[in-house]
Amino acid sequence: MILFTCTQCGKGLSSADDNAGRNAVCPYCSQRTPIPEQSDPDCRLVFNSGAPDGGIVLTNAQLQAAIAKGEFTTDDLIYDGGRWCPLGHVLSLPPMPPPPPPSADEPEIALHFSDLPPVQLDAGSSAPTTAAKTRRPSGQTFDKLTKTLTTILIVIVAIIIAIIGCAIAMGLTAKQ
Ligand SMILES: [Zn+2]
Repeated sequence: MILFTCTQCGKGLSSADDNAGRNAVCPYCSQRTPIPEQSDPDCRLVFNSGAPDGGIVLTNAQLQAAIAKGEFTTDDLIYDGGRWCPLGHVLSLPPMPPPPPPSADEPEIALHFSDLPPVQLDAGSSAPTTAAKTRRPSGQTFDKLTKTLTTILIVIVAIIIAIIGCAIAMGLTAKQ
């Protein structure tokens, strides 16, 4: 795929490799524009959730402007090095700060909280059960503790009784 800009309106365009050297009609300005032999290195192919098919061709300047406007986030995908990568992994741009500010107040915890709501929505019914599950083990461990303590007490009492029994028996045998 060849990425280039319209010579008339400057919008980013893409075309199949076979069309190199031909003319194209720009879908934005309806003017004819040549398709170069190779991609314009200033052009980027970006994909966000609202983009159809292969994404949108933007120049670096247009991309930065779009990110600044909030049209793209660092999670949107950019075609880089032959594969789709998150924008945030490819570009270190001023728009990257916008996400950090909320997390800067409460560093990692704030990030986790922002991640949690969708998880709870996905498993809405499982949220209470997990809470119940976390309660049950504590109750079970408490029961186990009391059971083991009771068992230990019983064993100790049994040993004491046995010792007393032995002592009495020995005393009786000694008397005889
Ligand atoms: Zn155009």
